[in-house]
Amino acid sequence: MVENLYRDTRGRAGDPVPFTQAVVDGLAAGGGLYVPEHIPHFTLDEIVDLASVPYAQRAARVYKAFGVDLPDETVDTLMAAAYGSNFDTEDICPITSLDDKTHVLELWHGPTSAFKDMALQCLPLFFSASAEKLRAQGAIDHTFLILVATSGDTGKAALEGFADKPGVQIGVLYPEGGVSDIQHKQMATQTGDNVMVWAVRGNFDDCQTGVKRTFSDKQFAEELQKVHHVALSSANSINWGRLLPQVVYYVSSYAVLVAQGKVAAGDPIDVCVPTGNFGNILAAWYAKQMGTPIERLLCASNENRVLADFINTGTYDIRDRPFVLTPSPSMDILVSSNLERQLFELTGRDPQAIASWMDDLARERAFRVDPDTFAKLRADFASDSVSSEDCLKTIKDVYDEHSYLLDPHTAVAFEVAQRLRSDNPVLIASTAHWAKFGPNVYRGLHGIAPGEDLPAEVASLTGCQLNRLIVKETDLPFIPAGLASLDEAPLRFTETIDAGEASIEDATRAFLSRNQ
Ligand SMILES: *Cc1c(COP(=O)(O)O)cnc(C)c1O
Repeated sequence: MVENLYRDTRGRAGDPVPFTQAVVDGLAAGGGLYVPEHIPHFTLDEIVDLASVPYAQRAARVYKAFGVDLPDETVDTLMAAAYGSNFDTEDICPITSLDDKTHVLELWHGPTSAFKDMALQCLPLFFSASAEKLRAQGAIDHTFLILVATSGDTGKAALEGFADKPGVQIGVLYPEGGVSDIQHKQMATQTGDNVMVWAVRGNFDDCQTGVKRTFSDKQFAEELQKVHHVALSSANSINWGRLLPQVVYYVSSYAVLVAQGKVAAGDPIDVCVPTGNFGNILAAWYAKQMGTPIERLLCASNENRVLADFINTGTYDIRDRPFVLTPSPSMDILVSSNLERQLFELTGRDPQAIASWMDDLARERAFRVDPDTFAKLRADFASDSVSSEDCLKTIKDVYDEHSYLLDPHTAVAFEVAQRLRSDNPVLIASTAHWAKFGPNVYRGLHGIAPGEDLPAEVASLTGCQLNRLIVKETDLPFIPAGLASLDEAPLRFTETIDAGEASIEDATRAFLSRNQ
């Protein structure tokens, strides 16, 4: 077992902790994020050899190299469960090549058809195993309740991942009327004895604020401990246990491209990622640090272009920035939380610099990095943003040229890859199956402007019916099983609550009492 510990980016959490503690904590004390003390290195041979074993074993190799304080056999067993028949292909995340140098990494073959499955089929298993280890050590004597505020994709992926896992329950809150028909049905039909879903009166921000306030209510935490022997935890993308599974597919994909004869071993590739919270692209950066021949990381933004501006200027500024609703809602962000880890690494791990920038961001809603850090950022990253109009146009162009349908998030990345690519082959991270975003895919294919109403006979269709119409019109063969029959599945969860923490806390108490 390789030893490794995790320290926090702001230097406020005290002594570094092992993997299991970092996973159960999520956020470090003092507000920082956990990062590994050592980044392991794979030789080119070790990377290329990954293609000779199943995906689950590739993941196990990467985990063991990073130093996970669980027995090797446990890691093997959990990975076999995380990446098995729950995905619709043995390749787990296959690569579709549109031409010699344009490769699409399909990260949506998991149960909820979004790339969040790549992490959330894995994290819950390691979360349960970590909690089990801490209980056996006598470090804790409680179980966990994961609370998630979601704008759509994360909630379903977390529900699916945590359903029926031992020692943990999960409650998901989404804005009522603020998610698509498909996303609503995906969540409201979730099975499992340890799951709960609430619609919240308000928008996503109200949801998130309510959940954050619930997390910081110390009295409520004490009550949950005393009455229910439960501690609250989160499963959002700042958890290291969600980031590490994402490193795996970048290392693995390079090996696959070499095995398929599409890239000569050792030749560089560029990677282009549709970015929101900066988790996915940060994972590609860690893969590069591990030795994967990735030259440049192309960060794709939609009209919420705070990251593109930051990467091009060195100033992160949300002072006068409107929050724009786009066809790629999972990239609609202002504060990109995993950027903190990236900056920590680029400063040569300077917690004072990070703490002061994050304080600037909280107080002045802006910060500027020093010239040295900016130069390092520019050496690894390039970035651009894509208008909603160009995003929908890209869906149509790529379909016309390649008979391949992109979801709006992947379309943003595809367009940025065209603008910024070098002579290197480019690997484009495809983060959702198109059928999760049928209405905007339909707009793209029919040249209807973003935000414009669909024709009445289309607008009246359910999400599933609309997807079937798109399949009929395009002759594309497949809608993922998890999305195809949502209209027939019984709605289990229909409760609506207020967004205030009092209402969330009452709902939580009721759920825990019912489920005791
Ligand atoms: C979450 C998500 C993203 C953004 O990923 P980050 O890791 O937050 O940058 C992009 N596309 C889809 C479909 C997503 O669900």
